[in-house]
Amino acid sequence: MAQRVEIAGGGIGGLAAGLAFARRGWRVRVHEQDADLRILGAGIYIWENGLRVLETLGVYDRAIAGAIRLTRRERRNADGTLFGLETMTGPGRLYVPLRRTLLEALRDGLVAAGGEIVFDSRPTGADPAGRLHFADGSSAEADLVIGADGINSAVRDSLGLLKSRRPVHQHAYRVMIPRLPEELTTERGTAICEHWAGARRLLYAPCTREHAYVQLTTLRGDDWGNPFDRGFWSRLLPEAAWIVERIPEDGKSDWLELVRVHAWSKGRVALVGDAAAAQPPFLGQGGGMAMCTALALAHHVEATGDVARGLAAWEAGERRFTEWVQTVSWTYGELARAPAGLRTAAFRIIAGSEWIKRKTLRAAVARPPTGAMAPA
Ligand SMILES: Cc1cc2nc3c(=O)[nH]c(=O)nc-3n(C[C@H](O)[C@H](O)[C@H](O)COP(=O)(O)OP(=O)(O)OC[C@H]3O[C@@H](n4cnc5c(N)ncnc54)[C@H](O)[C@@H]3O)c2cc1C
Repeated sequence: MAQRVEIAGGGIGGLAAGLAFARRGWRVRVHEQDADLRILGAGIYIWENGLRVLETLGVYDRAIAGAIRLTRRERRNADGTLFGLETMTGPGRLYVPLRRTLLEALRDGLVAAGGEIVFDSRPTGADPAGRLHFADGSSAEADLVIGADGINSAVRDSLGLLKSRRPVHQHAYRVMIPRLPEELTTERGTAICEHWAGARRLLYAPCTREHAYVQLTTLRGDDWGNPFDRGFWSRLLPEAAWIVERIPEDGKSDWLELVRVHAWSKGRVALVGDAAAAQPPFLGQGGGMAMCTALALAHHVEATGDVARGLAAWEAGERRFTEWVQTVSWTYGELARAPAGLRTAAFRIIAGSEWIKRKTLRAAVARPPTGAMAPA
């Protein structure tokens, strides 16, 4: 009889984990608290490591359908002066597909592989013996339970695994905006650009021919322009007014956090994604790391042929690296607090140093995720 995995959370981590196990012949059931996939109206950076996981899981073409490969990354001051430029034409692909497209590809892949997704199903905790508990007192038994229930993970907290939730003291407002036909060919319309004004910044990232992703980031205590105030942002970033004028007022708002846990598993229960290792979004790696660790979990459990040994090998192999990526992302975000001149100098050094690029993009480029197939 095939082994069973019960998964709390039908986000990027839970669906990727479910698909990785289903493709190894496991019986998979994902419990999602919402009535459908939680689709945010936003794009998501998927770097080389996440793309390789999608290829291995057989959903790459679907997941990035319509998305554009991005090769130019700029940083500009409020007056439009370019102070950072990276070209990404070598190894290390980056796409920013719609979250909807990514999640639907993972969902459809999971269902096609024989997995089950139960909506309106909300686990409230887990038992290290391999049980997922529900609010009505019922429970489900499995060879492996996965808590992929996000930053507020009930599974993690029920097992006492939370070590810290560190506030980043920064706020992000995420939206999608339409792209105009004339922006499909211009440098300005096709590049990723961070527009900086003091600690405040606007990120513009083309996703598809029709849509671009925009994120406004501000520090805690900075109430100017947050909630979104079009007039304020237009005056702040006149060079980016062509973006600001298209920003809708019903975007998604988040205070950013970094999560650390005592351990990635307890008994037969493992934590995947933000439940174990949420990070601020400054490297665009939270979702990518969730997929990498999900694939690695299935790989290690299969390779060792035993859940306990597989979990130990998984944590030993993946945790240090994941926490290092969290720390790099945190540090990058801390540059927002630095005086503008120092920050600009730091970005110039980052953009000009191959060593730093290799180190900071290591997550994205240098290390194939465990269990992923080799790049083509
Ligand atoms: C502003 C911002 C921008 C970001 N940009 C990027 C980016 O560009 N690239 C990138 O890689 N990452 C990015 N991230 C990070 C990325 O969104 C997360 O790391 C990723 O979504 C984590 O996936 P997850 O499945 O662990 O959690 P989630 O995506 O949070 O999914 C958890 C799921 O579990 C469900 N759930 C919660 N509790 C329960 C329960 N008790 N029972 C059942 N279901 C439950 C939720 O409804 C949800 O569907 C960003 C994050 C933020 C905040």
